[in-house]
Amino acid sequence: SLKGKSAIVTGSTSGIGHAIADTFAAAGANVTINGFGDAAEIEAVRAEMANKNGVEVRYSAADMTKADDIAAMVADAEKEFGSVDILVNNAGIQYVAPIEEFPIEKWNAILAINLSAAFLGMRAVVPGMKKRGWGRIISTASAHALVASPDKAAYVAAKHGLAGLTKVVALETAEHGITVNAICPGYVWTPLVEKQIPDTAKARGMTEEQVKKDVLLAAQPTKEFVTVEQVANLALFLTTPTAASITGSLQSIDGGWTAE
Ligand code: NAD
Repeated sequence: SLKGKSAIVTGSTSGIGHAIADTFAAAGANVTINGFGDAAEIEAVRAEMANKNGVEVRYSAADMTKADDIAAMVADAEKEFGSVDILVNNAGIQYVAPIEEFPIEKWNAILAINLSAAFLGMRAVVPGMKKRGWGRIISTASAHALVASPDKAAYVAAKHGLAGLTKVVALETAEHGITVNAICPGYVWTPLVEKQIPDTAKARGMTEEQVKKDVLLAAQPTKEFVTVEQVANLALFLTTPTAASITGSLQSIDGGWTAE
């Protein structure tokens, strides 16, 4: 049980992050949710998560491209909940284009949100975790932390970087009761995947149906999308006492993708 623990899950107004936040709340944690979206919808998500699970849920509007926002999000959670025991670096964006056309501002935004935000978050939570002698840091990386696909220069670079960052911080915190791991999902059916289908179709001259079958699920031997609940329960497992010796690891959950 995560009763009495406090968790921050970045990018949890949608998709994988929402499922992780909900699963942690169901396990008894007080949760800080974060991400963009319609204010009324976010408030509805927040209230439902809190009421359903009998825990406190706060919303932080921190923009993961802004170092000050990230520091303030952590400081707020420490003040309101007394600690940040679990940090999930999950916020992420994607952009698909060949290298010679890849917009520089998209490169910068992806590196900021998918990689630098995790550095800033870890930097902010580790002192409190060390003081208390317990902490769990989990980053949503990707199969693209291990292997590449064309047209995803920034995303693949950021996710490979996140894998390296995970290993470094795991070593630095190993004697302090803190574990640092990354989850590497294959294709999970979320708005992030749905939104890249038209661009991939354009870049490869395919129909959207062909992209789903021949590009996305072609990479995944099971021919099934991973579910957000499967990813969330793997994240929950990493917080349990059984997982105390798992640190600095990259946990594949990809239907066999990276076995090929
Ligand atoms: P999603 O688009 O459903 O959710 C992304 C979340 O990040 C949203 O809550 C969004 O508001 C938030 N976000 C975006 N920019 C932000 C910013 N600047 N500041 C704060 N929050 C911001 O996507 P998802 O598929 O659930 O992806 C979540 C994570 O999982 C990402 O890191 C993604 O790279 C990773 N991932 C996804 C898949 C997949 O197939 N869906 C596979 C592997 C890894």
